[in-house]
Amino acid sequence: MPTPSNSALAFPEYDVAIVGAGPAGAACALALRGSGLRVALLDKATFPRDKVCGDAIPGHALKALGQLDPAYVDALWQLAPRDEVRRSRLVAPGGHSFYLHWKLRTFNSPRLHFDAALLQLVRQHTDAVVLENATLKELSILSDHARLQLAGGADITCRVVIGCDGANSAVGRQLLPEPRLARAHHSAGVRAYFENVADTEAGTTEFFFSRSHLAGYLWLFPVGEGRYNVGLGMLSELVSRHKIDLKKLLLENLATHPALAGRFRAARQLGPIRGFGLPMGGGRQRPASGARFMLCGDAASLIDPLQGHGIDLAIRSGILAAAQAAACVAQNDFSAAFMHQYDEQLQRQLGPQLAHSYRLMRLLGTRPWLMNLGTRLARLPGISAWVKRLLA
Ligand SMILES: Cc1cc2nc3c(=O)[nH]c(=O)nc-3n(C[C@H](O)[C@H](O)[C@H](O)COP(=O)(O)OP(=O)(O)OC[C@H]3O[C@@H](n4cnc5c(N)ncnc54)[C@H](O)[C@@H]3O)c2cc1C
Repeated sequence: MPTPSNSALAFPEYDVAIVGAGPAGAACALALRGSGLRVALLDKATFPRDKVCGDAIPGHALKALGQLDPAYVDALWQLAPRDEVRRSRLVAPGGHSFYLHWKLRTFNSPRLHFDAALLQLVRQHTDAVVLENATLKELSILSDHARLQLAGGADITCRVVIGCDGANSAVGRQLLPEPRLARAHHSAGVRAYFENVADTEAGTTEFFFSRSHLAGYLWLFPVGEGRYNVGLGMLSELVSRHKIDLKKLLLENLATHPALAGRFRAARQLGPIRGFGLPMGGGRQRPASGARFMLCGDAASLIDPLQGHGIDLAIRSGILAAAQAAACVAQNDFSAAFMHQYDEQLQRQLGPQLAHSYRLMRLLGTRPWLMNLGTRLARLPGISAWVKRLLA
């Protein structure tokens, strides 16, 4: 339950209330370190908490955190379990594969541990008041403050609220009249953990493309201690049009896909297959801010449409929102017009990458022959670097 804050007598109680302590919320709190602002970071869960994900921490996520303070990244490299990743293997529908070697050092680690480690950094390095088991129920924007009503009856008041509350964002639902993006900009994903998978290669994440799951892929990611995050993601438009049961399709592929079948014969599944949505960027974005509020990460539909990564974009948007919140307090301006600077920053810094990925996803996702041709060409000297630039 929420604990009383030091600033209980002040009004509003906080300068900034961040709803959601995943990567976006934790990064936002870290970026507000030293700002002098009174910050509350609240989450409906108690950490460590699971999050359905592929558990691949993008190199750009670590890079952005390192720019705030290299000590954050040093601490995250101590995390266990973890598996350092140096390259990816892409297997085309026809069975040809090629490797992409990544420039930025990074690792995979179950979100259960990674997100708890991020939140630990917030506790260790900032004065933010962390409230767990604190579910936002109702949110009102008033002329001189925002009021957050939590499950159980407690209230929080603040000058600006930052919605980092994920794909089903309560902040977004309550404050934005426009509906979420259409199914053409949304993917569905399922994943389970396995051990004893055969023929894996150290430091390698694997992506499998198939005619049965175009506009998406099956992944096999090592996450440390001999365990693998194995999942399947696909454009929601196709899932609903063809009434696809993703959990069933995942298991079928593990048993029958030519590049996978034998490898799972002796494998053991650890726990159930779980699914979750991926709101993707790159389309016509609905606004990510308004008077006294901003949205970050999945709440703002910022997942990369081609590769499905969103942790890096969540962290980068959380950092941008922190800068905007500090500017709002400094100028005492919480108007929608002033807050719109945040949307402009998002568009400038993340927009081109998301738009490029979306176009590429639509192109490759409907043309398996292009994937087959690409993987063959990518093995030719000189072309691999070009393919990597296209996909990275
Ligand atoms: C199947 C799948 C595979 C994926 N694989 C990858 C991958 O390998 N690499 C990658 O980079 N990305 C991946 N993603 C995307 C990634 O998981 C998200 O982009 C990322 O988690 C977004 O971070 P966030 O902080 O915006 O939201 P979240 O991580 O979802 O955090 C939101 C937080 O808000 C809290 N919350 C929600 N509602 C409330 C409320 N009402 N009140 C208070 N708190 C609330 C939640 O408890 C949660 O802690 C995957 C997603 C899926 C579904």
